[in-house]
Formats: sequence, C-alpha cells, structure tokens
Amino acid sequence: MLVNDPRKDFWIKVGAVAVLVFGVSLLHYGTTTARPLLHDVYRRLYYIPVGLAAVWFGLRGGLAVSGVVAAIYVPHIIIYWNDMGRELWNRVMEVGLYFVFSGLVGFFADRDRAYRRRLQMANERLERSYEELRRQADTLFQVEEQLRRADRLSAIGQLAAAVTHEIRNPLGAIKGTAEILRDEFPSGHPKAEFLEILLKETDRLNQVVEEFLGYARPGSTDEGEAVDLAQVARQVVGFLSTPARKAGVTVTLEADEAVRVGGRPAQLKQVLVNLVLNAVQATPPGRRVTVRVGSCDGRVLGAEYREVAGRVARLCVEDEGPGLPRGEEQRVFEPFFTTKEEGTGLGLAISRKIAEAHGGTLAAENRPEGGARFVLTLPALEEADG
Ligand code: ADP
Repeated sequence: MLVNDPRKDFWIKVGAVAVLVFGVSLLHYGTTTARPLLHDVYRRLYYIPVGLAAVWFGLRGGLAVSGVVAAIYVPHIIIYWNDMGRELWNRVMEVGLYFVFSGLVGFFADRDRAYRRRLQMANERLERSYEELRRQADTLFQVEEQLRRADRLSAIGQLAAAVTHEIRNPLGAIKGTAEILRDEFPSGHPKAEFLEILLKETDRLNQVVEEFLGYARPGSTDEGEAVDLAQVARQVVGFLSTPARKAGVTVTLEADEAVRVGGRPAQLKQVLVNLVLNAVQATPPGRRVTVRVGSCDGRVLGAEYREVAGRVARLCVEDEGPGLPRGEEQRVFEPFFTTKEEGTGLGLAISRKIAEAHGGTLAAENRPEGGARFVLTLPALEEADG
C-alpha cells in the first residue's frame, strides 16, 4: 500500500482504516443478536483497523480510531445487549482494550519512527561528510599536482637562468672584440657590413638575455618608454603569421592609428604573443583570429575586469575557437592552469602580471557568438606634442 506520493499514501491509509471500521460496524448492526458467536468474532475484527491506525499514524492516530470505534460500537452494545449483565461489561471492557492496544502499538510505532528519522539524519550527515572529504581529497590531489609541476618548472627555470647568465659574459666578450675589429674595418670596407651584422645580432641576443634575467628576478621595474600598441600588434601579427598559416588560421589586425602607452615593449610584446598564440591554437583551420587595437570597448567584459582610471588604451584578441573552458573562465589566469598536454599554464598568469605591472588589467570572457575574447586595458599616454 506504499505509494511514492506521501499525501496520496496518507489518504489511501485513512480510506483503508475507514472502510474497515465501517465494514465491521455494518456487520455488527446487520447481524441479529441471536447469533452471539458471530458478534464475538466481529468485535475482535475491530483490532485490525485500530492496530493499523496505530502503526500508520502513531499513538494519536491509534487512539483517535479507537475513539471512533467506541463511538460507533458502544451504542450498539447498549441498545442490543442491555439485558445481558456480565456479558455487557465484558464488551465495554473490550472497548477499553482497544484504547490500551492502540496506545501500546502507537507508542512503539512512534518510537520506531523517531529512531528511523534519527538514523536517516545521521546517514545524510555521513553522506555530506563523505562528499566534503572527497572534495578535499580532490583539492589535495590538485595541489599536489601543481606542486609537482611547479617544482619541475622551477628547476627548469633555475637551469635556464644559470645558462642565460653564463651566456652573458662570452656575449660581452664577443661584442667587445667586434667593436675592436670595427676600427680595423671602417665603413666602406667590404667586410664592415659583416661586423655591423655581428654587432646588431649580439645586441639582440643581449636584450633577450637581459629580459629573461629580468623575469627570473621578479619585481624588476623600470620607467619604460612610450610604446605604440598598434605597432607592437603589427610586429607580433607579422611574425606569428607563419605558425598561423601552418594552422590554417587567418590573423587579422584592426589598428588604424597609434595607441600610445608607457611601458616595456618587450614585455607588452610577450603579452600579445601569448594571447595571439593561444587564440591561434584554439581556432580550427579556416577560421579567424582578430586583433583589435583601441576599439574593443562597449562589449561585455569578464567579471575580473576592473576599470583603469583615466584615459585607457585597449587591445583585444578574439578567436573563433571553442571558448574558455566552461565554469573555469577565470581560472585561466591561475599559474599552472592548463588544458593542453604540453602546456605550462604560465602564459596568461605572466601576461596578467605584466598588465598589472603596467597599471592595467587583462580580462577574458566568452563571446556570445562563440570563441574567446581577451582584453588588455592599459593607461594611455597623453600625447606630449599634439
Ligand atoms: P598554456 O597555453 O601553457 O596552457 P596559458 O596560461 O597561456 O597556458 O593558458 C591557460 C589555459 O587557458 C589554456 O590551457 C587554455 O585552457 C585556456 N585558454 C587560453 N587561451 C584560450 C583561448 N583563446 N581559447 C580557449 N581557451 C584558452
């Protein structure tokens, strides 16, 4: 008789008890008192609805049904059996027994129900604790994984820093030697051109080394210089056009005029390289990556976005890939967060650090039309001479 809907279940039980009480009463009132044996059987049949009510509805339900039975049955005793003397009292006592019986059964049923409720609550608490434990174990596992990765990366970083440091001294020597040789081969000499190349490339290598060591020493800051974001974007799009072409992705640049900010060009270039490379990697062949300089406001930006005070310069990189991993949109900036097999998860973390070191922000969001959008916002430089 158990039904899933508790209200329906309740009313079915009430109906069953009512039918039984009504049925037995009908038998009583419909059978002549000339057959006392049948009446003895009927009055014991009342124990069934009384007992069921006590089991289903507890002490109060059992007593209530006993009351109803008494109200129906006692008049029958008085009307039909008033000539009976001792037998009359037997029947009245039996009515009293209905109350005792339903009281006892109801009491134990209530106790059993309370016990089961406590058990269920304990069970739910246990399940919650287990769930919490599992979550914590997962977090622990992730942290352990990050630590392992950080350890590996820091070892690689230290090694790279040491190697770079070792390169610096011979590089100085090469440059010094080249400068001495330049005196021997003044401009106009057929070999002077080679010396110029040697010096230029040595300078370039030196800059790479300095920049790398600058990263290895966190917190290194300098004033920086005026940088045209459009120019930086042009350079980056230019030298990333080969990997983009290989991936079958078109990279379009929309930058009409100079957008000047103050900062370190190499660092800003690194931010853009990270953003454009990520976008190219995420975009399927035949699709497009768009780099916009100065014209990407007016759109919904990620929750992490905060306004940069004063005049701002913006640059955004939009792609037509699958978008940022759902539910983890803001985690992409966490160090070591990566979904790539070969990824380090450091590109965006470093890029955001660079943006913030320049007094700006780097935010990300999924575009409503599909794909991801990264927005770099930096304080714009006021034009010095109109
Ligand atoms: P890595 O490229 O080594 O994974 P990043 O910090 O550059 O490290 O990126 C972190 C993660 O952010 C990526 O693994 C990827 O899941 C996600 N991501 C970055 N750029 C995009 C993009 N344009 N589209 C979709 N997901 C991206």
